[in-house]
Amino acid sequence: MSSPNDILALIKDPSAEDQTLIEKAYQFAEKAHEGQKRYSGEPYFNHALETAKILAELGMGAKSIAAGLLHDLLEDAGVKPEIVEKEFGKEILFLVEGVTKLGKLRYHGAERHIESLRKLFVAMSEDLRVLIIKLADRLHNMRTIQFVPKEKQQRIAAETLEIYAPLSYRLGVRKLTRELENLSFPYVYPKEYEIVKEVIKQKSKNMDARIVKFTHSVKKALAKKGITQIKTDYRIKSYWSIYKKLVRKNMDADKIYDISALRIIVPTVADCYQVLGIIHGSYRPLPGRIKDYIAFPKPNDYQSIHTTVFTGDGDIMEVQIRTEEMHRGSEYGIASHITYKEYPRFKKGEGESAAGIFAWILKLLPKAVNFGRPKEDAKPPSKISYEGVPSWIKELAEYQEKSVGEKEFMENLKSDFFEHRIFVFTPKGDVVDLPIDSSPIDFAYAIHSDIGDRMCGAKVNGKLVSLDTALKNGDIIEIQTKNICAPTAKWMEVAKTAVAKKKIRAILDKQAAKTKSVGKS
Ligand code: MN
Repeated sequence: MSSPNDILALIKDPSAEDQTLIEKAYQFAEKAHEGQKRYSGEPYFNHALETAKILAELGMGAKSIAAGLLHDLLEDAGVKPEIVEKEFGKEILFLVEGVTKLGKLRYHGAERHIESLRKLFVAMSEDLRVLIIKLADRLHNMRTIQFVPKEKQQRIAAETLEIYAPLSYRLGVRKLTRELENLSFPYVYPKEYEIVKEVIKQKSKNMDARIVKFTHSVKKALAKKGITQIKTDYRIKSYWSIYKKLVRKNMDADKIYDISALRIIVPTVADCYQVLGIIHGSYRPLPGRIKDYIAFPKPNDYQSIHTTVFTGDGDIMEVQIRTEEMHRGSEYGIASHITYKEYPRFKKGEGESAAGIFAWILKLLPKAVNFGRPKEDAKPPSKISYEGVPSWIKELAEYQEKSVGEKEFMENLKSDFFEHRIFVFTPKGDVVDLPIDSSPIDFAYAIHSDIGDRMCGAKVNGKLVSLDTALKNGDIIEIQTKNICAPTAKWMEVAKTAVAKKKIRAILDKQAAKTKSVGKS
């Protein structure tokens, strides 16, 4: 039998208040989901409980954990938002509604829309906690994907691999990223997965024994120099990251040295560099493999020193050196920064305050613009390189560059980027990103000029509408076309996007030229 203690046991010193909240949410959700079953045949509530446990393990606060327990109430248990607000307050309702909204987005494998969809996730998760709860929800769904009907598995796994795992990586929550990748990879690319499995099998023969032996040798070398206060640990790279690396290295498995890595965790940053010195003094390092992510953190805040050495008995091993704090940061990422802290978005006794909105995106940015910088290069680059930065982060970073201060940046972000853009869907669920007040005409041209040129009518959310209807976030739009239909002069007034205007103008000019020549003859 499960109980609220399953969650509470994962929280470090929960306050009495936290405890009461979690117990209440537990009982409420258990009752609301009563009689509902998962594909696996388990009670539905188990899913809510497991989601909450993942959040507790990540170190999220009691409100996020409670929202994790309640996250499927609106959509799957038919509980009214008013009831959630009455029982648990505005903030928890806000989190639950946020997660519900994100659940409506579907990825259908249209490559060109991946970036939009990621952006949409960010835009809709005004509060970071919403995104993290959604990630926890997805992780449990992936852990149980074998029970889901076959025809759904591929879509869910692809969505996880293309949308959720990259967002989790972006947030630096490696613990989640690795598991999400490992669980979805075999469903999305079964053949490639088999290749990686074979490579790992070949390369990691007696891996445990080899690592134990090397760890022992390293500890001895460090002890000789008086360093005894260390912790060691090792990790196996996710199958998906190994696959991506294989592709980069032309499928040459011999060029991959970091399938497993020994981690050395020490008290201070100075210790990290000292340990590096001792290791290089004891084992010959591979040239060009030393990466100082302490001096130059990765864009997602990851910090550690990496080096790869010859172990002396025929092996090559990656070593990662870091402090306890860096270790926690690398496993839990941004989740480790917001632990137990209340978000400024909601202050006691009032509703929403704008201050906290997008604050977490801001947190991601300054590092994002350093992405293209060579790690070993101590000099800051004269010009910021955007190479390799996902376009949605780049767009955000450009906003920041143009803005003077944080406050202005926030204003720009809210007004230009999110408030002036809407995200709408094709009937298949592909996302189209348009300026606010766009019409079905803009939508049609955003899909394809041929669709715009032959548009007769449009349905929004299943209802026929006039072509000057202003589209709203989340609308599903279906365009009707016929060969006899064509743009009219009025469309020029209605269209908002440059693309649509240009195409309409071209057709109108053609029509005008035709009329003229007809008139002359
Ligand atoms: Mn769920």
